[in-house]
Amino acid sequence: MRLVYTSDNRFLVGNARNILEAHGFDVVMRNEHAVSAVGELPAFEAWPQLWVLEDADYNAACAALAGALSDKGAPPWRCSGCGEDNDAAFDFCWNCRTDRPPGTA
Ligand SMILES: [Zn+2]
Repeated sequence: MRLVYTSDNRFLVGNARNILEAHGFDVVMRNEHAVSAVGELPAFEAWPQLWVLEDADYNAACAALAGALSDKGAPPWRCSGCGEDNDAAFDFCWNCRTDRPPGTA
C-alpha cells in the first residue's frame, strides 16, 4: 500500500479518490474524519490521505491522478511568443517563459 495523494483539504482528497476509483484502482482513505475541530489547523500527519492498495498500481495511479488534476476541464493555451502548447496549470510558457496571455484560463 502506498500513499498517492494528501491534502489538508478533505474535498480534494475525496475528489482524487473518485478519480482513481473511476480508473479502477483499489484505494482507501485515511484520516478522512480526523479534522473535525473548527479553526484548528491539522498537522501534516493528520491530513486526509489517499492510499493505493497495490504497490504495483502506484505509478499508474499517480499518472492518472496527475492527468486528471492537470486538465480540470481547461484546455492547454498556446504561447504567443513561441507557439508552444502549455498545460492549463502553467502561468507562463514552459519553453520561453512568456506570461500566459489574459483570457486563456
Ligand atoms: Zn513560449
